[in-house]
This record gives sequence, C-alpha cells and structure tokens, in this order.
Amino acid sequence: MNKKDFKRVQDRLGGVSRRDFMKLCSTLAATMALSTTVAPKIANAITSPTRPPVIWIHGSECTGCSMSLLRSEHPTLETLIFDLISLDFHETLSAGAGHQAEEALHKSVSENAGKFILVIEGAIPLANEGIFCRIAGHNFVDVVKDIGEQAGAVIAIGSCATWGGVAAMDPNPTGCVGVDEVLPDTQVIALPGCPPNPYNLLSTIIHYLTFKKMPALDDENRPKFAYGRLIHEHCERRPHFDNGRFARKFGDEGHRQGYCLYYLGCKGPVTHANCSTSQFGDAGSGCWPVGIGHPCFGCAEKGVGFNVPQFTTSPVIHTTPVAGHAPITVERGEGASSGSSALMAGIAGAAIGAGAVFTAKLGGKEDKNENKEA
Ligand code: SF4
Repeated sequence: MNKKDFKRVQDRLGGVSRRDFMKLCSTLAATMALSTTVAPKIANAITSPTRPPVIWIHGSECTGCSMSLLRSEHPTLETLIFDLISLDFHETLSAGAGHQAEEALHKSVSENAGKFILVIEGAIPLANEGIFCRIAGHNFVDVVKDIGEQAGAVIAIGSCATWGGVAAMDPNPTGCVGVDEVLPDTQVIALPGCPPNPYNLLSTIIHYLTFKKMPALDDENRPKFAYGRLIHEHCERRPHFDNGRFARKFGDEGHRQGYCLYYLGCKGPVTHANCSTSQFGDAGSGCWPVGIGHPCFGCAEKGVGFNVPQFTTSPVIHTTPVAGHAPITVERGEGASSGSSALMAGIAGAAIGAGAVFTAKLGGKEDKNENKEA
C-alpha cells in the first residue's frame, strides 16, 4: 500500500490513521473468516486506484436494498463501497434518464465485457414472457440474460433477486423468480435479506478485489462468512430460550422483559444470517428485528420468509449445545446481557460482526455491541 493511495482513501474516510486503517483490514479479514495475515492484501485492494466497474440493475422490487446501503448514518460504509468500485450504472442513482441512461448502460457493458460486476436487485417476472417488468422497451428477463452473460461476476442482492422474495409470494401472478433461474449457467452470488446487510456486500466485494475470486459459498450460493450460522446460534435472547423464558403475546410481561420470541413465530432457529452480530442501519446496539422485539421473519432463508406464516413456530434443529445456564439479570425493557449471550450462543459466530462494528467506529461511533465480539 503506497502512501499516495492510502492518502486518497484516508481523506475519504475522514482522516483515519494508518494504524486504524490496518485494524479495519484485520477485522474485515476476521469477518470473512480469514487469517489476519491477509490484512495487508486487503489494504492493497482497498487502496488500489484500479476500481472494478459495477453495473446495478433493478427488477420487481421496492429499492429497499439500495436504500439500506444509502441510509447508513456514518460515512464509512458507502464511502468504502463507492471508493472501491466504479459504479458505472445504477438506475436509481443515475443522474441521467431515458435514452441518456440507457446509452451509458450499454456503453459500460460493451467496454467492460467480461470484467464488470453485475448487481441485480429485484425479482424477474417470467409470466407472459416477462411483460410485467419492462425497462426501456425491453422485458427485464431479457435485460438480465443479455447483460448477465457478459458480466465477470453476478451478485443477486436481496431476497427478491435471490429467490423471488415478496414479488414471488403465492399466488405469484407475474411468475417472479430469482436470478439463478434466469442465468442457470452462471455462478450467481446470493446476498438474501429484506433488506440485506450492506456490510455483507462490502465484504463480498473486498474479497473479490483481494483474491480475484468470490468467497466460499454454501449450498444456496450465500457467502459462508455471512450466512454460515443460524441466527438462533448467536442471538442475544438465546439464554432466555435455553432457560424457558418466552414472550407469548406482543406486549405481555415476557415481551416487555425481552424474553425469547420463539412462540411469536421467530424464524431464527431455521434462518442462516449474521443479523444479530452485524445489525442494521448503524443505529447502535440492538438495531435488528429481534433486538427491537419483533420475531425474525426468515427473509434470508429460502422457503421461510414470504412463505411460512409469521406466527408459525419453527422446528429447532442442530443448535449449539448449551454450555451452561447463564445467570440472567434483566431489567424491564432490556434484553439479555451480551456477556451471557456470548456464553450461551458460543463465541465463534459472534466474530462475524467484528468488521462491521469496527467500521462503525471509524465513523466516530462507539458501538456497545463491541462486547459481543469479545
Ligand atoms: S427463537 Fe428467535 S428470539 Fe429466541 S433465541 Fe432463537 S433467534 Fe433469538
């Protein structure tokens, strides 16, 4: 990492010190379940002036995935992402419109064929030859096929692009499907979630830039570093589950005490994601659905979110064994202590959020979740 390249990133990150920047690279390595010895490689990738072109297109969706990225409160996340990539085209953010925007899109595709990263947000309607989503006179399904076949890598961001999401809910009159059904011969990286955590996109891009390949994937093509464990395994309310303390109705005593939401239909026991450790919106401790008292909806798991009714309880399978019964002291309105959560849920999965927490700190915020990663 040469001084000039670091200075460019340093300015964009609000004057972060070299030491803190290297710490960030180490924690990003930990986030991706890699040895911290690769931190210098990550630093080189982040500070490299060569930026991969990214084309971001939208189908049947609400644009919530883009919004969750843009609504981060501190400047670090979107700065890092937009500094790392050359966002050549994004239908929502593009300054141009109409023919001008289409021209920019096709120019970038032809100039960067085989090299650009294609990010697809939204489901793809197939009914009636895809006529339910048309952009610039073309059915979206044809746009995905045309551009997807020329991309160097394809990322399906959000549950809609991954499996159809809300757009594909029964009875799915427009025949919405995920990207992998339209590009069956392409390796599509899936980042499901409604919305997905933008840190998972950041880590995936950094992995691609550093190692020139995508991270290890699970059977559903999700990066293992982010979707490798069940939410139930590192949930802050897990000690209550293990000790039989449950909320039975919204607003009852158990709910007010921050007890486990299993009987309110929590899908944490069957959903793989790092929501509890990465959290959302950089809004501080506890900002994720279960943290604010709503059962997990299962949006990151195929066949769960948008398929299983919210209040249906989930089967509990292969959870981590109980290490012991943590002494839980809970004041009204507070959840379980993070220390007891770590004890009960196991430490390994909690490290998943380390990079996100450190990145939040770079933005000048102390995040109390730090203890969870201890
Ligand atoms: S059932 Fe839900 S709220 Fe309860 S411990 Fe598991 S993930 Fe957390």
